[in-house]
Amino acid sequence: MKAAAIYGPGDVRVLDIDRPAPEPGEVLVEVKACGLCSSELGMWADPAFKTEEPIFFGHEVSGVVAELGEGASRFAVGDRVTIFTDRGGYAEYVAVPEAWAVRLDAGTPFDWALGEPIGCAMNGAARSGIEVGDTVALIGVGFMGGLILQGARLKGASRIIAVDARPESLALARALGADVVVDASKEDAARRILELTGGEGADVVIEATGKQGALDAATDAARIRGRLIIFGYHQGGKRTIDVQAWNWKGLDVVNAHERDPQAYLKGIRTGIKLLEASQLTVAPLLSHYFELKDINAAFRTAASKPDGFLKAVVTF
Ligand SMILES: [Zn+2]
Repeated sequence: MKAAAIYGPGDVRVLDIDRPAPEPGEVLVEVKACGLCSSELGMWADPAFKTEEPIFFGHEVSGVVAELGEGASRFAVGDRVTIFTDRGGYAEYVAVPEAWAVRLDAGTPFDWALGEPIGCAMNGAARSGIEVGDTVALIGVGFMGGLILQGARLKGASRIIAVDARPESLALARALGADVVVDASKEDAARRILELTGGEGADVVIEATGKQGALDAATDAARIRGRLIIFGYHQGGKRTIDVQAWNWKGLDVVNAHERDPQAYLKGIRTGIKLLEASQLTVAPLLSHYFELKDINAAFRTAASKPDGFLKAVVTF
């Protein structure tokens, strides 16, 4: 089968390897879609990264159960699933413990059912501690920001102020029902959020960019005793924090990430239920599609973010 492995910056190769056999308790999944995650861009762009051994990757996977390992009983061949995996989803097949698979309805498109990011956003929304009636400021409305914006609404935010500098992200925020959209290319986001909240600041500020500037803006835009949610994935060096401002405001700061597969799966189950109940929408967040053979182009596109870019998906 074909599977993509990364060897160094800008160097993803599609290899011919043996199709994996499911171990006892596992299912083999024929991959139909694998989302390209911005957490993978760090490695793809890192000039110091180089490996002789192929690193198989891709973790935002949905597909069809193709084979059952011994004793696997939760699924039948042909079932549609989204999975959590760390074994390389940019491949025609991937084997995972059956407990890491979540069933999809017949009508759920594979490219919408990218389990890991949807689960990540639902877990982030849960960790945010948003209470009914809160004013939430969201800094960064890319693919993940677009998901957690919807999570914030579902948690009961009364007002969502969405900040971004890219026109496609501002349009997305509007389409997803943000109450106020702030163009950070034209105005100071923190100052605008303070204005919009009568000088107090937002109850909850979600930083969803993984960038230093957004951390600073989030610090300035949160109210005293507010919550600062670090949902962005920070790669490429250390960040500088105004801890005195955090002290002064008595902020609750949450790193809204999970690492335990069970936590991922809980979020994925929640997200797929919401998706299939039309409480969560993914279609407007997807912008670019690639075949596996063009995976380097997919990475180049995700890194350069051409006009209109929100998310790349490799489909099979
Ligand atoms: Zn991801």
